[in-house]
Amino acid sequence: MMPFTNPMYTANMNPQQQAWFHAEYERARKDEVAGVLFAFFLGMFGVHHFYLRRNGLGVLYLLFFWTGITAILGFIECFFMPGRVRDYNAAQAAYIASHIAPTAVSRCAACGAPIEPGAVFCFNCGAAIPGSAPFRPQAAG
Ligand SMILES: [Zn+2]
Repeated sequence: MMPFTNPMYTANMNPQQQAWFHAEYERARKDEVAGVLFAFFLGMFGVHHFYLRRNGLGVLYLLFFWTGITAILGFIECFFMPGRVRDYNAAQAAYIASHIAPTAVSRCAACGAPIEPGAVFCFNCGAAIPGSAPFRPQAAG
């Protein structure tokens, strides 16, 4: 599977910023296969939650692993890990992009989807974007 790289994040960056973005992203991104393996083999200890920095859930699994329930949950969560890792990576990419080039990516207040520069409506949920109202020509004079 191709690593997550959305040109939306780097479209407005200069080559230096793009290099910076990719370096930071490669460091921050998590691996889908590793996420599945953690859930499968160490899921009862919540390792797959710690992997995606869901530390609260991880601690909860650690506290209750002796019940055996977390082992079952970990097995079930194997199937959700690829999607969770992709969401995590997308969030990391948006976070990094917003720090490198703050104007490059804004996010929909309603659903959190990344908004393309200059967009008036969210392409994901259709909500109007506050602060990016259609250009109104100033009245003459
Ligand atoms: Zn939205």
